[in-house]
Amino acid sequence: MSWFNYHTHCNYCDGKYPAEEYVLAAINKGFFSLGFSSHFPLPFSAKFAMAEERLADYLAQIESLCNKYACKIDIYTGAEVDYIPEQRTVKDAAVQAAELDYTIGSIHFVDSFFDGTPWQVDGRHLEFLRGLKDIFHYDIQQAVRRYYALTREMIKQTQPTIIGHLDKIKVQNWDNQFFDERERWYHNEVMATLETIQKYGGILEVNTRGIYKRKALTTFPSPWILEIALDLDIPVTLSCDAHHPDELKLEFKKTAAMLRDLGYQTLQVLSNGAWVEAEFDSLGIKGQQHFTSSRIVA
Ligand SMILES: [Zn+2]
Ligand SMILES: [Zn+2]
Repeated sequence: MSWFNYHTHCNYCDGKYPAEEYVLAAINKGFFSLGFSSHFPLPFSAKFAMAEERLADYLAQIESLCNKYACKIDIYTGAEVDYIPEQRTVKDAAVQAAELDYTIGSIHFVDSFFDGTPWQVDGRHLEFLRGLKDIFHYDIQQAVRRYYALTREMIKQTQPTIIGHLDKIKVQNWDNQFFDERERWYHNEVMATLETIQKYGGILEVNTRGIYKRKALTTFPSPWILEIALDLDIPVTLSCDAHHPDELKLEFKKTAAMLRDLGYQTLQVLSNGAWVEAEFDSLGIKGQQHFTSSRIVA
């Protein structure tokens, strides 16, 4: 039994430690595979994203760790790429040129303020309220609908490998202060988004970060959404969105058990560079190990 994680932030973006520390921690925790997903550079200043001039170094660094630890773990180079129309998408030449093993497509920004500054919807609550007032005149439904519309547009037009934290906007909705996820309009937005994934493809990420950072009571996306995704045969992977080596596999046991209870039998994992379905239970992937060792050692 062993684990894996493809949503990992090191100190090239807003992660806390050098990439090698995560590799060592992953080996310690018995991972067979680890993928890095620094926030791809943005064409405006954003604290969490990698600086453009560090991209080449990031790619070289992960590649060198991949070689250095080939006998112990499979390392992959990915990136979490924002979808911001006209500004950044996974289809951009800069992203393509990086020749990543995979991409995570995420929505962190929805439209922009009058001065052109993009509105970050998953950051500080005060910033969220400012955009809700200035851009959407306090119309929460309109703001959330726009968030999901952008998510659908991203999936349809750019097809990232993995769809990151599908309902992360819920971090602003603690105690259901704006809406209840069971409301018809919200359900319809989620449903339309899942149907878009079903039609255009993509692996849905089950992300545990909200739980261990105490920003959400459940995974991104919520279990009721995962239940529908299963009915629609949408493939899923498990990730912890680690920003610290100690966060690798946090909440994996409980979340894997929850997925099994919902009826999931397999998770998507990378094996020899290709995505495959792997059977799992609350202790990890069955019969998986890393594959490069025989090649390298022999
Ligand atoms: Zn993200
Ligand atoms: Zn992330």
